[in-house]
Amino acid sequence: MQKGKINVTTENIFPIIKKFLYSDHEIFLRELVSNAVDATQKLKTLASVGDYKGELGDLTIRINVDKNKKTITVSDAGIGMTPAEIEKYINEIAFSSAEEFMEKYKNESNAIIGHFGLGFYSTFMVADRVELITQSWKEDEKAHKWSCDGSPEFSLEETSRERRGTDVILYLDDDSAEFLEESRINEILNKYCRFLPIEIAFGKEKDWKDGKEVETDKDNIINETKPLWTIPPAEVKEEDYLEFYRKLYPVADEPLFNIHLNVDYPFNLTGILYFPMIKNNVEVQKNKIQLYSNQVFITDSVEDIVPEFLTLLHGVLDSPDIPLNVSRSYLQSDSNVKKISSHIMKKVADKLEEIFKNDRAQFEKKWDDLKLFIHYGMITEEKFYERAAKFALLKNTDGKYFTFDEYEKLIKGEQTDKDKQLVYLYATDKNQQYSYIESAKAKGYDVLIFDGQLDVHFVNHIETKLKDSRFARVDSDTVEKLIPKDDTARDNLSAEQKADLTPIFQSQLEKSENFIVSFESMGEGAQPVVITQSEFMRRMKDMSELGGGAAFYGAMPDSYNLIVNADHPLVIRILEKTDKKLGKQVGELREGKNKISKERDALQKAIDGKKDEEVAQAEKDKLEELNKEIDKLENQRIEKLKKHGKSDKLVKQLIDLALLANNMLKGEDLARFVKRSVEMIR
Ligand code: ADP
Repeated sequence: MQKGKINVTTENIFPIIKKFLYSDHEIFLRELVSNAVDATQKLKTLASVGDYKGELGDLTIRINVDKNKKTITVSDAGIGMTPAEIEKYINEIAFSSAEEFMEKYKNESNAIIGHFGLGFYSTFMVADRVELITQSWKEDEKAHKWSCDGSPEFSLEETSRERRGTDVILYLDDDSAEFLEESRINEILNKYCRFLPIEIAFGKEKDWKDGKEVETDKDNIINETKPLWTIPPAEVKEEDYLEFYRKLYPVADEPLFNIHLNVDYPFNLTGILYFPMIKNNVEVQKNKIQLYSNQVFITDSVEDIVPEFLTLLHGVLDSPDIPLNVSRSYLQSDSNVKKISSHIMKKVADKLEEIFKNDRAQFEKKWDDLKLFIHYGMITEEKFYERAAKFALLKNTDGKYFTFDEYEKLIKGEQTDKDKQLVYLYATDKNQQYSYIESAKAKGYDVLIFDGQLDVHFVNHIETKLKDSRFARVDSDTVEKLIPKDDTARDNLSAEQKADLTPIFQSQLEKSENFIVSFESMGEGAQPVVITQSEFMRRMKDMSELGGGAAFYGAMPDSYNLIVNADHPLVIRILEKTDKKLGKQVGELREGKNKISKERDALQKAIDGKKDEEVAQAEKDKLEELNKEIDKLENQRIEKLKKHGKSDKLVKQLIDLALLANNMLKGEDLARFVKRSVEMIR
């Protein structure tokens, strides 16, 4: 028997492996099975080129668990190893600066495994002894047994084996008893080995007999050796894609489309991507793509490999060219990864464009479910925006769809304002903004609907993209002002009439500080009072709610415009009533105020000419006294008007109607409104 020492510079590497790789213990099985697959495929290659002339025989890879002996054995009928190969591949691990590397990547077990080619040695995460019984395919080679207890010491001796191939036997340590459970092994195999290209048997198929589950003598093959993505696209039927999807995601809704990727130059990439139906919660949709390397499952978090929006897709990617066992930061800068990533993005855009061009009806039908994905891509990836701008759709409140170009043509005539800006009108809630939508439509405008999760961001984004254009929500102003056509804003009220009406309306507003009262001539047919919220303020608040960094605006109270229609007969009636009741008093107060104002202005003018020290104290006192007097008279006027306004049911009724049109009248206020309405009709 030969005794030797494994050639590592670090005295005892195995405790380190154990310590650092604790979170991913289960991958030992992936490593062993994929080694067995490699060895088997190498043999098949040797046979196909005529180097190996013997029988291939049964090539099934077998996994056995022995609960009593506490062992797991992985057996293959692959190429096996000669003693010289054991020396080269198993004993000599090229450790240079091992400790330094370990320190750097201690949280990234994959990196450590990959860096050292530690695949085989990962078995020491779960075993305190590992044996390897192997016989090379080469003629005249004897079988050998290699054994190692986790220290750098190993033994190697001649043994016998039925035929070529390798058994790896793990003597599990006490902490790893979980891997003796059939269900646990099944779980791991199903995760990592489900699509490996060589048949893998674990246990026997089970059958029901007399109400009991019994083992048959048929091998239980756990994998599908030719998964759909490895088959040339021309040979695959549409229903195969659906069936494969159901296999991958048994509980998901049917996907909308799929893309079969099949590239062999300048990098190797196959896979099938599906566009899922995206429900509202984006986060739960992410990270469903499974990444494989030569059919070995590696991970389902592909966020560093593809742009973020593509992580919303489902399906599989398989590429031996993605360096899987390196650090994440390295991945992002890897040129292959970058190429693969932009290739996938291009393919996705191609596919969408193709469906859009060939079957627009279908594209429109699926748009609402696709939209979030496409918007996400357009917002986050400039290149994707350029492509998608050709097929992305805008939907209006009548449910019609338009491309950006089509829509621009549609609204250009009616919706260009006096500054030659094209104004895109939109609603975010068809019911809540119903009356605004209707008035915009009555004016010949078209209104888009933006009611999706990302739409606030999307509006902000395309606004920066479309030239000479802006977006305005239908309720952000009165319909006249949404798209201002000329500068001369008509207004038939005098400054004094407005000054009198303002406190009257303020008197009936619960939080009057949140409302700015203004006047506009909207025509007799329009609503008497309209409430709007400025586009800017609302967007800032929306953004801060979405965590868009506008926290300041989020903390501000809502601010609304209460716009009184100066043309409306009811408003005129309020004015007349006020005039009749308070006209004289208000007139006198105003006159008195004007008189004192004149006196004050004259005094102020005299003072303005002098230096401060030249102004007599008496003059200063007088000025203060006059100012106080003016304030007093002004306050008296406002108080009188407010008192009057408060008693006028009509004022309250008009405000409530405007609130109601905005869905802002709720609870007790709404109940009172209903009651008052009944009284007023009676
Ligand atoms: P890697 O698989 O990344 O090369 P491993 O440590 O898993 O690293 O294996 C090292 C080498 O040992 C393999 O490249 C292969 O040459 C050899 N080897 C491992 N397992 C087997 C096996 N079951 N049959 C034949 N050779 C094997």
